[in-house]
Amino acid sequence: MRNQGKTSSYEVHNAESSQTDRNERPTLPEPPHIITLGTAGGPSWQKDAAGTVRNGTSTALVTENGWYLIDCGQGTGRALAESGLSLKDLRGIFITHLHSDHIADLSSLVLFAPFMRSTSNGSRIPLIGPGSRGKSSLRSERATKREAISLTSINPGGLEHLFKHLVMAFEADIDDRTNDTLADHPSRIFDVRDIAHSHVPGFDPNENVSPPMHPLLIFQDDDVTVEATLVSHHPMAPAYAFRFTTSDGIVTISGDTGPCKNLVDLARGSDVLIHEAILLEALPRKFENQEMHDATLDHHRRAHTSPSDAGLVALEAEVKTLILHHLVPVAVPEDIWSSETRKTWNGPLIIAQDCNHYQIKTPIMSC
Ligand SMILES: [Zn+2]
Ligand SMILES: [Zn+2]
Repeated sequence: MRNQGKTSSYEVHNAESSQTDRNERPTLPEPPHIITLGTAGGPSWQKDAAGTVRNGTSTALVTENGWYLIDCGQGTGRALAESGLSLKDLRGIFITHLHSDHIADLSSLVLFAPFMRSTSNGSRIPLIGPGSRGKSSLRSERATKREAISLTSINPGGLEHLFKHLVMAFEADIDDRTNDTLADHPSRIFDVRDIAHSHVPGFDPNENVSPPMHPLLIFQDDDVTVEATLVSHHPMAPAYAFRFTTSDGIVTISGDTGPCKNLVDLARGSDVLIHEAILLEALPRKFENQEMHDATLDHHRRAHTSPSDAGLVALEAEVKTLILHHLVPVAVPEDIWSSETRKTWNGPLIIAQDCNHYQIKTPIMSC
């Protein structure tokens, strides 16, 4: 991957705002570095304060020999193409949890990969994420009437289940292309693995989603070691944070979570903590239905983290740099995110934008 030219360690590039010709590969910093491919949180298409539609949550970690994708929200495919990342160099995909704003573009990645990556070298792309929660979630206490939820499974499946049914849903396309074009079937491209959580003592998807635990080793190769811990994104469970250890720095990604001891333990001493953030006071009213409005606010209070609390997590975990992403709502101006975070955190701080690149090991730009 060390082929895009060298730039200053302190330099931050934005693929949209730079002078980069759209037909040329942008200049990337030396690996390892991070690309915040998508920075909006939530299941919708949203404009930021500048009027730009942001991509859903997605991050790339670029190392010496390839790159790794963490989450795959809407717009990820376009973002990785604009960032000059080739599927030929993709060494692993890690999904924090199965909310749609983290996996909406997984279908296009799975369907397009056979045309962008050969299986001739025999290696499949590890696609690793949560297993089944084991039973259905509980209905909000805000609901005033019981409804039959006939379309909802009593045991929602995990990532392997999702992949299997995604391939089934697109079988007309896959049948045609594998027979007529002789393309590889997606199952020959991806090695799909549910993270095993059943042995974590005390875990219950409805009562105890993030019991104290030792991080799980979920992946290792020449460039990275990846560990996972259960975080507090109730009722979405299992939901994970990931810690990537490289030879030249450590990056922890929170996934979606409320303030969580497991995350503090996982992130301890990281060079970079990429944390989600929500500003409840800035949320616009989305739903006329009062029950849905109240239930949604309940979820946001319980399952996400304010910028000042993200600062406390960074402080407690003694990380070097804090990057906020998964911004909800993303229309909030950057200076507001910064001032809210500065109530608790005085270290290096980045409010991420789509397709920005950041060195891991150096004191990256502080807002
Ligand atoms: Zn999310
Ligand atoms: Zn979520």
